[in-house]
Amino acid sequence: MEKEKKLETGNISVSTEHIFPVIKKWLYSEKEIFLRELVSNACDAVTKMKRLGSLGEIELSDEEKFAVWVRLDKENKTLTVSDNGIGMNKDEVEKYICSIALSGAMDFMEKYEQNTTDGSGIIGHFGLGFYSAFMVADKVAVHSRSLRDGEESVLWVCDEQGSYHYEEAEERSRGTDVILYLSEEGEEYLEGFKLRDILDKYCSFMPVEIYFDDGEKKEEKEGEEEQKPINDISPLWLKRPSECSDEEYTAFYRKVFHDYKEPLFHIHINADYPLNFKGILYFPRISSEYENMEGQVKLYYNQVFVADNIKEVIPEYFLMLKGVLDCPELPLNVSRSYLQNSGYVSKISAHIVKKTADKLCGLFNTERELYEKLWDDIKLFVEYGSLKDRKFYDRVKDVCLLSLCDGRYLTLKEYLEEVKDKAQGKIYYATDKVKQAQYVSMYSAQGLPVALLDRVLDSQFISMLDDQENVKFLRVDAELADALKQGEGSENEELKALFSALCPEGTEIAFTSLKDEGVPAILNISEESRRMNDMMKMYGMDMPDMPDKATLLLNGSSPLIAKLTACADEEKKKAAAAQIYSLALLSQRQLSAEELQKFLAQSFKTLELGL
Ligand code: ADP
Repeated sequence: MEKEKKLETGNISVSTEHIFPVIKKWLYSEKEIFLRELVSNACDAVTKMKRLGSLGEIELSDEEKFAVWVRLDKENKTLTVSDNGIGMNKDEVEKYICSIALSGAMDFMEKYEQNTTDGSGIIGHFGLGFYSAFMVADKVAVHSRSLRDGEESVLWVCDEQGSYHYEEAEERSRGTDVILYLSEEGEEYLEGFKLRDILDKYCSFMPVEIYFDDGEKKEEKEGEEEQKPINDISPLWLKRPSECSDEEYTAFYRKVFHDYKEPLFHIHINADYPLNFKGILYFPRISSEYENMEGQVKLYYNQVFVADNIKEVIPEYFLMLKGVLDCPELPLNVSRSYLQNSGYVSKISAHIVKKTADKLCGLFNTERELYEKLWDDIKLFVEYGSLKDRKFYDRVKDVCLLSLCDGRYLTLKEYLEEVKDKAQGKIYYATDKVKQAQYVSMYSAQGLPVALLDRVLDSQFISMLDDQENVKFLRVDAELADALKQGEGSENEELKALFSALCPEGTEIAFTSLKDEGVPAILNISEESRRMNDMMKMYGMDMPDMPDKATLLLNGSSPLIAKLTACADEEKKKAAAAQIYSLALLSQRQLSAEELQKFLAQSFKTLELGL
């Protein structure tokens, strides 16, 4: 016969009348976290048990299998979180469950009374995690037995007003069941798939095996042993980087982010001191410039999921990163205002920037070939990061590559070194390999490599380099490099007049003498005016009355120009000059519809004259 037990009743405390509505009101939008709170409490109880075992304070058998179970009972509308952790006796229930950390919580509430937009920090901060159960339950029972020998089992039952009493408890083994009697608001959690999603989101890497029973398959199941835990108790980020293989990193990435493209590379952060945080960050492969680049960085607190994409932790320009960060020094429930003002957070952020830069430098120094292969994919991030953060730029500037039209990759320094005898401090580039092919080949023929800068961000990036590095980026059609010339051309007033009549107003006519005799005339567009116009276009402020500052250079070494100068037939002369101009234009850019028509008509005329 069970001996008579003294059953007690009680009221949690005066504060409950304040706290219960707060829990319901402020946490309404994030109801689902109740499960995280209860499961992590259960994991904690198990972890404590294990620790006592390893300290030798209690004896644990080798067979002891620690676990947490989440069980749904649709019929009775209950959800139970069970563990075989340290458990609680009645005194402990009184101490830990019944007396909410009052003063702190009350202060907190007062503070948030004025700022109702962000109250989520209250849970967890002040040991209220357990009470989040009342967001979904109108009655909660705790059936527990402490680890100590001879302790009695205890059954505590509390309603949503905060009134509790003890009931006669069935004897049980060590551990705790927290039984939620789901309320109307909590009915959505009677769906197994929904619970499974929440468990996957918050508990995937918790440190104790978690089993989920949705109450559906009970008959078919042969035994608990067959079931697999829903979580991975030793996530990759906790291992030492030297112990992880590339395959493991890729498999982890795929599992966590469901992205089947292989990431470009990863950074495993394993900081102990002075910053205590661990994590793995991946640079995702982005197949086009237009693909959604938003990454996903999951923040954990001791293996418990806290939130996604915390901007304060990851610098804005790295938001395309995917990864996990475990920051045990952050409170479990991080509020925006906390993050914005936290020195720890800004140190984490700075550390990530440094680690990323170190990784890039490391790859460059030790695996140059691989780094070059990756460059086109990471260039966008590096340029964007450099534009946004001077510190990041300073760390990576020596490993920023120029991709050349000839297929090579050089750093700025290497480029300048290569051209130093021909073009001091100047970097020639093309924005379109096809349209600017004529120029590119003229430069290449004289041993001047041409960089290809054909991405949207390139123009801003090179403007920064112009300023910071005391160099001058010049598009191949901006001005003639000295290396292309064999001397100055001689002025010819008649030719000047002839071409002036053909060119749009404002075009300057000048004379030169090129090494390449095959080119009779070439158009140059001032770098400054072109960049200015490009920028206007980018901001949607196209100004047609501000044409690019153009110069038509006539090549004195060209036999065609010599013939033109000598020609006495006015009609032929005009036709040939028009043709030369159009061809110069054509090698600089695409013709407009009007220009093309004119060009075709001229070409026919020239052919006719030649017959
Ligand atoms: P916190 O976990 O932040 O301390 P909670 O309100 O979630 O706040 O829990 C209060 C306390 O109740 C815990 O610190 C722990 O001592 C005790 N507790 C809660 N759940 C369990 C459990 N499953 N097993 C043992 N003790 C528990």
